[in-house]
Amino acid sequence: MENKLFFYNTLTRTVERFVPNEDGKVAMYTCGPTVYHFAHIGNLRSYIMEDLLEKTLRYIGYDVKRVMNITDVGHLSSDADTGEDKMLKGAKREHKTVMEIAKFYTDAFFSDCKKLNIKTPDVVEPATNCISEFIHMITKLIEKGFAYEAGGNIYFDTSKLEEYYVFSNQSEKELLVGVRDDVDEDENKRNKSDFVLWFTKSKFDDQELKWESPWGIGYPGWHIECSCISMKHLGEYMDIHCGGVDNIFPHHTNEIAQSESYLGHKWCNYWFHVHHLNDKSGKMSKSKGDFLTVSLLESKNYNPVVYRMFCLQSHYRKPLEFSYEVLDNMSAAYDKLVRRIGTLNRDGEIDGKKFAEYRERFEAALCDDLNSSMAITILYDMLKDEMNDATKYALAESFDEVLSLDLTTAHAMKEADKEVDAELEAFVLAKIEERKAAKKEKDFAKADAIRAELLAKGIVIEDTREGVKWKKA
Ligand code: AMP
Ligand code: ZN
Repeated sequence: MENKLFFYNTLTRTVERFVPNEDGKVAMYTCGPTVYHFAHIGNLRSYIMEDLLEKTLRYIGYDVKRVMNITDVGHLSSDADTGEDKMLKGAKREHKTVMEIAKFYTDAFFSDCKKLNIKTPDVVEPATNCISEFIHMITKLIEKGFAYEAGGNIYFDTSKLEEYYVFSNQSEKELLVGVRDDVDEDENKRNKSDFVLWFTKSKFDDQELKWESPWGIGYPGWHIECSCISMKHLGEYMDIHCGGVDNIFPHHTNEIAQSESYLGHKWCNYWFHVHHLNDKSGKMSKSKGDFLTVSLLESKNYNPVVYRMFCLQSHYRKPLEFSYEVLDNMSAAYDKLVRRIGTLNRDGEIDGKKFAEYRERFEAALCDDLNSSMAITILYDMLKDEMNDATKYALAESFDEVLSLDLTTAHAMKEADKEVDAELEAFVLAKIEERKAAKKEKDFAKADAIRAELLAKGIVIEDTREGVKWKKA
């Protein structure tokens, strides 16, 4: 098939034509969440833009297999193998076991994804499912001379590689400074850039999850999980590996080092990285205490899909600053857009020529390094153009396969909600009148029963000086 998608490949530092290993098929891997806390909306920006990439690939005709890991072990608070274990930190904070924490936050992650219309990858694999695969890969790396044991841990020996800093034109010194803030030097390492494949001696004796291994009881390093999980499901050759820009170093650099040393050949051809979402004080992060979540946006009455639109309006390779002002404007624009589409008259014949013309323009925008804001502009252009409503509606439905903004369903849902609200209001007002009458006749038992009946339906009533008020509980 025609390979018409271009996007920025971090490995070659250029916008490149995407050509998969196998014609028409794409093997795609995404670094999944570390499930020790809720995902913040910065994390979710990465997953929204990766979802856009996957859906674009499908839209233009590729058969995609996408795999994602769940990090439920081994991710330390500094990506350079030091600091606290993130899962243990979550467990201590909430007085739960690590596995309880992992289950709770994995479910919360997928619930957020659903609200943002992010498709669940074809395969989702928790790291704790794959301990034998990690041990196998580490054993092979030791046999091949790429790994060594020191002080009870197994390290990858970066000096054995021809090129370690595959992604960056930064100097070794600069990169290490970035990673080693607040880090004590690990005396066991032969080279500063070496990293842990398996821990048996870590700083925390209270590590909850531990497994038998040829090197003693311990647990895997973080990087090894993505190499093993991707190979388990996608084989020895991968087309696209995704993540946020903070994953470039050391995580993805180390994934490449160990995977290619293990395989003896090139592993993944395209690396897709999404820039960060920042708040006014800088990069959003889970360790900052109060952070922005989908639930927080919902509690402020924002539709999560509006946040998706906010992300799509900006290019994935640009840092994006979050603000409620912009989200408010986006919310108003979204309501107007879905009302416009929802009130189109669907009867009539689709104009095939116009449909093809706009579909082509829409695809061209996405194929141009995923220009999602241009794709949305084409949607607006299309709605303004001379063509019948049925064609416009069909195009909006088609574009939504990629944009996933509920373009054709949101308006009807809102109207249905309004109808339900109107019915509920009529019911509650009638009950309030009935209660008033009961009280007048001094039938307090009946009045109380009415209050209880409403409460059972989630309605709270309050007697105030201005009369009876009601609200949803
Ligand atoms: P974590 O759960 O910390 O492993 O991160 C999950 C994903 O979110 C990774 O791909 C990170 O690169 C990405 N990420 C972390 N912080 C941000 C941010 N502020 N903006 C966008 N993506 C982020
Ligand atoms: Zn990863």
